[in-house]
Amino acid sequence: MVSDGSSADIESKLSAEEIRYMLHGSDSELVLNSLPVGVALLRMPGYILEMANSTFARMIGEVKSHSLAPESRFEEVLPKQWMNVIIPLVDRAIETKNRVTVCKARSGAEEGGSDAYWLIACQPVPNGASNTHHAIILSQDVSEQSVLLKRLKALSALGSSLSRGYSLDEFLADGVGKCSAAISADYCAAFLLDQDTPRLLRVAESKPLCWLPSEITFDSPEEWPCGIETSASAYVSLPQANAREARWLGSIGAYGYLRIPLMTVGRPIGGMAAVFKKIGYVPPQEDIEFAELVAERCAMAIAANAAIAEYGRLLAAEQEAHRAATAKAAQMEALLESLECGVVAYDRNGYVILTNRACEEMLDVGKPQSRYGDDIAFGITLEKLDGEAVSLKEMPYCKLLREAALADQHYMMHYTDGSYRVISFNGGIVRDAKGQMSSAIIIMRDITRMYEMEKTREEVIRLISHDLRSPLTLILARAQMMERVADKPDAVRKNAMGIVLSARYMNIMISDLSDSFRIQSGKITLKRQVFDLAKFISDCVERWLDAPETTRLKLDIEPNLPPVYADPVRLERILTNLTTNAFKYSTGDSEVLVEAARYQDSDDQALISITDHGQGIAEDELPHIFERYWRASEARERSEGMGLGLYICKELVEAHGGRIWVHSVQGQGSTFFFTVPFAG
Ligand code: ADP
Repeated sequence: MVSDGSSADIESKLSAEEIRYMLHGSDSELVLNSLPVGVALLRMPGYILEMANSTFARMIGEVKSHSLAPESRFEEVLPKQWMNVIIPLVDRAIETKNRVTVCKARSGAEEGGSDAYWLIACQPVPNGASNTHHAIILSQDVSEQSVLLKRLKALSALGSSLSRGYSLDEFLADGVGKCSAAISADYCAAFLLDQDTPRLLRVAESKPLCWLPSEITFDSPEEWPCGIETSASAYVSLPQANAREARWLGSIGAYGYLRIPLMTVGRPIGGMAAVFKKIGYVPPQEDIEFAELVAERCAMAIAANAAIAEYGRLLAAEQEAHRAATAKAAQMEALLESLECGVVAYDRNGYVILTNRACEEMLDVGKPQSRYGDDIAFGITLEKLDGEAVSLKEMPYCKLLREAALADQHYMMHYTDGSYRVISFNGGIVRDAKGQMSSAIIIMRDITRMYEMEKTREEVIRLISHDLRSPLTLILARAQMMERVADKPDAVRKNAMGIVLSARYMNIMISDLSDSFRIQSGKITLKRQVFDLAKFISDCVERWLDAPETTRLKLDIEPNLPPVYADPVRLERILTNLTTNAFKYSTGDSEVLVEAARYQDSDDQALISITDHGQGIAEDELPHIFERYWRASEARERSEGMGLGLYICKELVEAHGGRIWVHSVQGQGSTFFFTVPFAG
């Protein structure tokens, strides 16, 4: 049931008084039949039709009103489909004594027309005291409003279908389907223009028609009868069609077609075609306008879809670029991290923007966040190689930020644990497009080994020119003396002993020197064997017996020691070095004791110790005793020695998997201990 403004219109137009007037007036029939509103008057309760005008007759399908003869019984003249609508309407109006309204659709299919919609109202009219009364039936054709309403609904449904998650194909199919139904076309399709080919691709159709191909190629836009070459829509029927269109229409058995371009931002992107078969048919303007509205929405949807696709493509491209950049950055970082050189970069304000692992290790810091250049000394003291401190202004990063050259500058870095490294600094500036400095990069190379080798080289030169010459001078002096005292056997023996001793020192020094080089270059290799330690020590002592000091030597070897697993040549070097030192740094006839026993702390090792009662070593010098080239201040006075013996002993003991250490009290003497592994 419908009750809206339309029924009120009827009422305002025709009051009961007016109807009575019309009924009783002389020209009543003429007036009534000219009314656009259907009017029928029923006398109740018998449903006797007193009169009906021609509009009413048209509504119920009677062509003329006089076929509805006055005083006829209503149910006899009323077609059946209307009986079910109007009789209940009248009954309800009489019963409620109120006006009742209903909207009835009548299919126009059987008459080849479109559907009609009628708004019907029944107004009971009481007849004073008498039992009889009237019912006035008023009807109004609201087909036009209904069609408009339906189209509006179709358009709004179309508008919301995209937001309901329709795909573009579904949306277009929905659009052309709705358009086809709304404008009573026999077929409706949408095409998209492929500018490159050029061709039209059918992207949607109302119902499949085998006669319309899905892809149409053509030489120029004018060839395709879809109106895409103009921005205006047009209806073309057979009589106005050009030869090509006529052929096309004829081939599909159509009378005419409505063509509407699909436009986005003033550019045709395709077209919509609605085909009509009914001969002589011309679609009304409102149908064309409706089709244009649908086409507009389809074009909008296509444009939105293209924009979304473009956005997707851009997004994917951006993601790909981001992925590539990330991969490149990761590669770069991996490369930087694997570099032996330290790399640190600063921005133009001196903030650290990048460091690699080698840099952090060299500077002994964790990953710095953003620190101002001043802090980038990282608590490390820089020194020039001659020992002079480097001022803040002269710090490599400060120099670079001032755009001063930084090429192959060598500085020494001291660490909190007392160690040091020699670092070579190189730097460069990165400039932006305007030539302004945007960042500064410092490359640090650890050249400590090179530096030390250079120092060693200098030492060796010094050694050869001075230290090795000292025992040689002694040998020469003693030999000359022997020549002079050849007839005095005691003096000869004394000088001969001096020669042997100096030659032995020289031999040790040469061995120390070559071993030190081997250790330095990592070329020392052990030739291990299993042998008896007690016998080995006795044999060594036997070999030393020609030296005068050996009279001071005492042995104390634990019986039944298991055999050791060691390189006998290297073990003799250790024993010789330590024993020679014991003789060298003790005087007179003080005893030198060599002991060998099981090591209490580790029963798979032998403990060997060499004790003297000589000058001992000052407490503050003890930590340096095994360092290369190190000699106690007192020892430096003596000519023999290079400070290599203990360093070599330590390296050799550790190469065997043992340990070496010393107990010493200045003025009382020293004991050097070392361990050697037992075999098995
Ligand atoms: P050098 O050739 O000077 O003896 P070493 O490496 O053998 O070199 O010894 C390093 C320094 O350790 C010596 O210069 C000396 O000062 C000290 N030293 C070594 N052994 C003893 C010892 N038995 N008594 C006192 N000082 C010693």
